[in-house]
Amino acid sequence: MKKEESRKLTAQELPVGDIVEASTAVEFHTGSWRSQRPVWDSNKCIHCLVCWISCPDNSIKITSDEKKITVVTGIDYDHCKGCGICANECPVKIKAITMQQETK
Ligand code: SF4
Ligand code: SF4
Repeated sequence: MKKEESRKLTAQELPVGDIVEASTAVEFHTGSWRSQRPVWDSNKCIHCLVCWISCPDNSIKITSDEKKITVVTGIDYDHCKGCGICANECPVKIKAITMQQETK
């Protein structure tokens, strides 16, 4: 009896694989998980960006003003999960972000 030949497949013989499309959390509105919401006060904010750099969900909205200085413009409530880190990290005396009970 002839022994079956065992060999590695060539690249041309390998089955074609699938390419799974990459995704991001931007497509999921994780803000619906929130029980408390951060409320930003534009009058108190000094635009130090501590909240922006601290937010684990990239939910602090920023833009560049006419002098090309980066400023906070608000909260992305579609993705903010209400963890409260931004309010905690905002300089204590300023309290430009406060956490408030989420309402339906
Ligand atoms: S940490 Fe507070 S003061 Fe600083 S940018 Fe954020 S909201 Fe404004
Ligand atoms: S509460 Fe948490 S998720 Fe929402 S903006 Fe503040 S740091 Fe980001």
